[in-house]
Amino acid sequence: MVKSKPICEYEKKYDNRIKKVEEKFKCPDEAIGSGFCILHDPTYLDKATAEEVTKVFMKKVHKAIATKKPLLAIGYNLPSINISATFEAPVYFNYTTFNGTVLFEKTKFNYDANFVNTLFIGNTSFTGSQFSQIANFIECKFKNEVTFLATDFKNEARFNLAEFQKGLFSLAHFQKVNFFEVKFYDESEFKLTKFHDTALFQKSQFYTTDFTEAKFEKEARFIENQFYAQANFRKIKFTNSGGILFDGNLSKLSFLETDISKINFGDNIGWERVYRKPMDWWDKFIIFCEKLKEHNNKFKVQDERIIENKLEQNVRLETVMNIYRNLQENFDKKLNYDFAGEFFVREMELKRKFKKNTRNMSKPNEPLTTHKNILAQIFSVLSFYYVIAKYGESYYRPLKFVIPGLIFSTFYFWSSGFNVINLVFQSGFGSEAMNNAIIRSISAFFPFYVFSSHNALSDLLLRIALLPLLGALFISLRRKLERKYRH
Ligand SMILES: [Zn+2]
Repeated sequence: MVKSKPICEYEKKYDNRIKKVEEKFKCPDEAIGSGFCILHDPTYLDKATAEEVTKVFMKKVHKAIATKKPLLAIGYNLPSINISATFEAPVYFNYTTFNGTVLFEKTKFNYDANFVNTLFIGNTSFTGSQFSQIANFIECKFKNEVTFLATDFKNEARFNLAEFQKGLFSLAHFQKVNFFEVKFYDESEFKLTKFHDTALFQKSQFYTTDFTEAKFEKEARFIENQFYAQANFRKIKFTNSGGILFDGNLSKLSFLETDISKINFGDNIGWERVYRKPMDWWDKFIIFCEKLKEHNNKFKVQDERIIENKLEQNVRLETVMNIYRNLQENFDKKLNYDFAGEFFVREMELKRKFKKNTRNMSKPNEPLTTHKNILAQIFSVLSFYYVIAKYGESYYRPLKFVIPGLIFSTFYFWSSGFNVINLVFQSGFGSEAMNNAIIRSISAFFPFYVFSSHNALSDLLLRIALLPLLGALFISLRRKLERKYRH
């Protein structure tokens, strides 16, 4: 009698993509001493040579390809793998750990590809691969760099709850794609990536990320993501800007040369800077100083910070101002005049603080946009306009100057009606003198309406001082009322 050999104990439930039901995978292979086969024994790779494990695994791969049967590589412990092939049936790498470099370059997955809960320890590449059916990377973990360069996802791609270090998706083509609660612990790249169908990026976490020249042909949603470093959304093409939604904190987003005048901004939009957690008391102090510097800059976009802190050399002032104009247009259309006004103020602040792109040819290493000197920033018509009326956005500010001005001038004219020595009981200290003073003040306040014919130097000076305040008050009130009744 032949003694039957023990079978590997590994079993795991998985989603059968052909039958569309959850099934139990039971490993049919022969067990070694541990009760598992050599692909399932978690310690076997340490003991054996990688070649032996690779050989056993590749035999299964070749068999699956030749017979066009599903590849059930569930829960394996694999060494470095290099496969470039065409799979005509589903592949399952659920719960598998790849302990080395993984190359799936130019591989065609003609049926579903499942990398659910798969762990990639080494560098991984799907460069030039093609996923004809669903590409399932739910809860997949990439502990090192992964490249999906020019990968063609011809159907839905799911990356929900996946974790990345460096994730490179440049030049890839996506149909429907889902990045829900995804974590990128290092940079990610989506340069020139094409999103042919709905793209969802929600509650995900990014460090430096770059979507420059990406193209969104249908809906795209960027909701409640955390951007811990600069996120470039430059030169983006939106075929259907109405279907683009950005919500959450956008203080790290750079929109240079992207038309954001028509895209949708959600209700929880914000530009306030997110501060990192301090590491010690010194760090706490640094963050405190940063906060002081940022005070009241709730509507400052990253692009302004770029020129302000000289983070990049070739950003033109006009391009940054354009972002603010786009934002004004956007919020104006939504009848959100408060936000539109705030962005107008930022645009004017740029004008006040920065020189127009005048790169000195003798200093070619200087940034294209530089600060005006501090005196020019402070003593200018613009800064005067800012102080008295916040560039015509505040009617409250000119009133703050006009009312005390009137009170002061009234008392001034009143007191100048008598002299200090015989100040009491003289005719000057009567109601007539007071009336006179009020009239003189008021007539300065309404310069075109002459109540009295006082032409003292003080009256003239008062008129000159009040004129711009009145102008500012008029402009800001008009702006407020116009907006209210335009629609
Ligand atoms: Zn097994």
